[in-house]
Amino acid sequence: MGRFVVGIERTAHTFSVAVASREGKILSDVREVYTPPEGSGIHPYLASLSHVKAAPRVLRDALLTSGVAQGDIDAVAYSMGPGLGPCLRVGAVVARTLALSLAKPIVPVNHAIGHIELGCLLTATEDPLVLLVSGGHSMVVAFSYGRWRVLGETLDLTLGQLLDQFGRHAGLSSPCGMQVERAASMSSRFIPLPYTVKGNDVSFSGILTTAKRLLDGGEGFGDICFSIQETAFAMMVEVTERALAFTGKKEVMIVGGVAANRRLARMMELMTRRHSASFHVVPLRFSGDCGSQIAWTGHLAHSKGVTTSVEEASTRQSWRLDQVDVPWRE
Ligand code: AMP
Ligand code: MG
Repeated sequence: MGRFVVGIERTAHTFSVAVASREGKILSDVREVYTPPEGSGIHPYLASLSHVKAAPRVLRDALLTSGVAQGDIDAVAYSMGPGLGPCLRVGAVVARTLALSLAKPIVPVNHAIGHIELGCLLTATEDPLVLLVSGGHSMVVAFSYGRWRVLGETLDLTLGQLLDQFGRHAGLSSPCGMQVERAASMSSRFIPLPYTVKGNDVSFSGILTTAKRLLDGGEGFGDICFSIQETAFAMMVEVTERALAFTGKKEVMIVGGVAANRRLARMMELMTRRHSASFHVVPLRFSGDCGSQIAWTGHLAHSKGVTTSVEEASTRQSWRLDQVDVPWRE
C-alpha cells in the first residue's frame, strides 16, 4: 500500500510535477514556466512544445527530490481541464505513460478545484467562501450539497487576463500581474474607469478598453495600473461581500495567481473583518499553477475511489468546477 500521490499540472503556461503525502505534506514541486515573447500572450501550441521539452527533466527532478520509492506511490493524478487544448494533451500523455509504467491508477483532477483544495490545506480552512482569481478564473464559490457552487463570476475577461492584456498592450511580457502591482503601488492618482457589476457577476472588458485608450492618449502607466486595481478589485470585493452575507460562511480565502496581489488581499481583508469572518490567502509560492494542487486533490479524490482508465484519461478544455462531484467533502 502506497502513501504518496504524484500530481501533473499543465493547463496553460506552467508544466509542473509534485509529490504529496496522504498527510498533506508537499515533498517536491518542480515547475517550468513558458514565457511568451514581449507584447504577446500564450500561444497554446508553442506552450505545449515547451512543455514537451520540459517534461522529462521536471518529472525526473520531482520524483528524485521527493525521495519517494516507486512502490510507495498510490496514484498518478493529472489536471484533466479546464485549460488550453494542446497543453492539456501533453499532460494527459505524460500522466498515462507514468501511470502505465508504474502500474498505478490514474486520477483526473479539475484544475480549479485543485487551487481551492490546496488553498484549504495550506491555510487550514475547512469550509471557506472562496475567491478564485487567476489567468483562467474569476469566481466566487462556496461548497454546498456535494459540489462547489458559483455565486458570482466574470462575464468576459478574468482578472488575470485584464492585468495581462493591459500589461501586454504596454509592451510587457505575460504574465504581467506582478509588474502591474508594482507600478500601481507607485501611484495614488485615480482615473475613473467603468465599474460593471451585473447581479452578482462582473465584467472587465470596459476597464480594459478604456485603460488601453488612456495609455495610448499619454496617461501614465502607473496611474492607470492603480486605477485598474482599485476599480476591478472593488468590483470583486462587492460580489464577494454579497456572497458572504448570503451564505453566512465564517472563512474567506483567496486562491489563484492573482491572490499574490497585496492590494487585493488588503481590500478583501477589510471587508471580511466587517463580517466577523476569518481571512486567508494561499501562500505566495502556491498561488500560481503548480503540481501540488493536483497531487493533493488527486489524493483526496483517490481516497474516495475516483479513478479513470488509461484509455479514458483524456482532456476537457471547458470543464467547469460546478460540474464536478466532490465526494471527499460530503
Ligand atoms: P494562474 O493562472 O493561477 O497561474 O495565475 C496567473 C495569473 O496571476 C496571471 O494572470 C498573472 O498576471 C497573475 N498574477 C501573478 N502575480 C500577480 C500579482 N502580484 N498581482 C496580480 N496578478 C498577479
Ligand atoms: Mg490556475
